Amino acid sequence: MTEFRPLVMKFGGTSVEDAKAIDRAAGIVKHRLSRRPIVVVSAMAKVTDQLLATARAAGAGDRSTALQLSRALRERHYNAAGELLGTGVFTQFHSELEADFDSLDELLRGISAVGELTGRTTDHVASFGELLSSKIVTQAFSARGINATMVDSRECIVTDNTHTRAVPQFDETNERLCQTLKPLVRNGCVPVMGGFIGATRSGVTTTIGRGGSDFSAAIVGAGLDAESIEIWTDVDGMMTTDPNICPDARRIRVISFDEAAELAYFGAKVLHPATLLPAIQKNISVYILNSRNPGCEGTRISARAPACRNAFKAIAAKKRITIIDIAAPRMLMAHGFLKAIFDAFDRHRVAIDVVSTSEVSVSLTVDSNEAIPALAGDLAKLADVKYDGRKAIVCLVGENLRQVRGIAARVFSLLPDVTIRMISQGASEINLTFVIEEADVPEVIRRLHTTFFADLDPEIFD
Ligand code: ADP
Ligand code: ASP
Ligand code: MG
Repeated sequence: MTEFRPLVMKFGGTSVEDAKAIDRAAGIVKHRLSRRPIVVVSAMAKVTDQLLATARAAGAGDRSTALQLSRALRERHYNAAGELLGTGVFTQFHSELEADFDSLDELLRGISAVGELTGRTTDHVASFGELLSSKIVTQAFSARGINATMVDSRECIVTDNTHTRAVPQFDETNERLCQTLKPLVRNGCVPVMGGFIGATRSGVTTTIGRGGSDFSAAIVGAGLDAESIEIWTDVDGMMTTDPNICPDARRIRVISFDEAAELAYFGAKVLHPATLLPAIQKNISVYILNSRNPGCEGTRISARAPACRNAFKAIAAKKRITIIDIAAPRMLMAHGFLKAIFDAFDRHRVAIDVVSTSEVSVSLTVDSNEAIPALAGDLAKLADVKYDGRKAIVCLVGENLRQVRGIAARVFSLLPDVTIRMISQGASEINLTFVIEEADVPEVIRRLHTTFFADLDPEIFD
């Protein structure tokens, strides 16, 4: 028998935010039953933020706030389940949800008694979001005639123990995914898994980083050699820029893996930056689709993008960036000096996005985070160090950048009044990246969008 290739469908937070959304998701899955779907769901919209706020309150010893926040979450999940399920089923299922919320409350009481929140307990609290949503979605699907089975992701997605941004261990994960999911799919079941969560080899709950359910879907898709991976969200696809900043952003019909990966890395939140790597390795097409408008064909992301007459496919912006300037006259280009600098970043586990160097200094950008003061203290042993937050990276992406001349001049001539702190072009040959003040992002994006996305190739853009 030739091996079948399943379809992985991931529903983001807004696509499971309430009973109506989950009902819509059930309809979408029903249409694809013949393609053997495996469903990955996020926590209901905003639940992860709320769980983390709850954990922080408990960590600060504020037990009553923590329990109050948890009560609101309990209410919301009960309401959604109640609306989705008939009274008989809901009564049975209610006690399961109740047990989960009771154990969440017990955990919160424990954290507030100790008054300390570790990465490990943070992950444990956060995991309730996807755990609960996957249970509710499974019940709702079953009540709508889908042969759905909940699969606990912690039994399949094996990670290291870097809590809050754990790294998947692919060999073991793939083995467990095949063992658990293949027999279910073969028997006509639709497995429903929570995204974002996993567990270490010894079974300790972990999470793989904010927005990580997209990545979970890609891990499952690559592990099972899926036919495609569908990311169902609240917009019509990958757009020419964030539609929240520019309401006239247009849908991109098709984009290459390389272009989409750059956009995701530099801030297009619609796709988690780690999502595409597993898909690229297995050459699995990824689609971005709108669960509120399932008739729209969305965006197809695949190995090769067809020719396009526009210079750029899209503009992304990544906020909450800090620039670190390291000045070391004479020493900088000395053998081993840059290595010493990068070693310090490595020790503090801080990832660098953009780099620019001169003879006497190097500037780097990092995501703003609490490790920066300690890192800067370490770097100060080597050189003079300054750091400056509230910056943003703007990134223009397009395969045509390889060929088009004078494009940088056109871009910067539109921004004569904007302070540009760093510029980078060439690393991937398909992006032009620069760093500005965070407050300038909306104006800069709108100006660039108006100019470069006025006359669009209808083959590529909607
Ligand atoms: P989900 O909860 O489904 O994972 P996200 O909120 O993580 O959804 O991602 C979808 C959001 O990404 C959109 O609502 C939109 O505001 C934002 N976004 C940013 N850049 C883009 C872009 N280039 N194309 C589409 N959406 C984008
Ligand atoms: N629920 C997680 C988050 O909000 C993961 C996801 O939605 O992708 O970060
Ligand atoms: Mg997301």
